[in-house]
Amino acid sequence: MNEQREGAGLKIKVFGDSILRKKAKRLGRITDEHRRVLSQMAKAMYDDFGIGLAAPQVGHSLQLIVVDIGEGLYKLVNPIIVKRQGRQSISEGCLSVPGVSIKVKRAKQVWVQAQDENSRFLEIEAKDLFACVLQHEIDHLKGKLIIDYASFLQKLRIKRKLAALRYASVNGEKNKSVITRSAATKQSRKLQL
Ligand SMILES: [Zn+2]
Repeated sequence: MNEQREGAGLKIKVFGDSILRKKAKRLGRITDEHRRVLSQMAKAMYDDFGIGLAAPQVGHSLQLIVVDIGEGLYKLVNPIIVKRQGRQSISEGCLSVPGVSIKVKRAKQVWVQAQDENSRFLEIEAKDLFACVLQHEIDHLKGKLIIDYASFLQKLRIKRKLAALRYASVNGEKNKSVITRSAATKQSRKLQL
């Protein structure tokens, strides 16, 4: 409890934790255990005012994401982007990189193929914010974070903050929960993914 924030009994992994950089495993059969993880992820996302969350962020290196931009909850398994169109640039935050926001250039519209929690195949056509969130969460499954999109100057600006997060994540520093909690509170009205 000292080391990381709790969300539905799941700890949100913070920058510096190696699981965030791993490629998440594609699922074969979808089991009750996976459905349970998806439900916990949804609760953790809502508890932290997020609009998207990927399984590696809660310590599972599996291709599972949840998204809700206010138009209903999506629980997606093995999501892949099959088509992109247009450009948009939105300032994004990340529950795993508290206190940092980066303007990320992404496709304005994406087509995503995935399975739902009952193994049914679906294709989602998403635009604007919904497209942004899907791309952000699918990045997590590849071990990619918003800071990878930062410009040279932005990287310099956030360098000390990242060093502090990494130090706290690796050393399990006691006051880290304080750091992340205050950052999360400050950011709660911004995009948290
Ligand atoms: Zn994120």
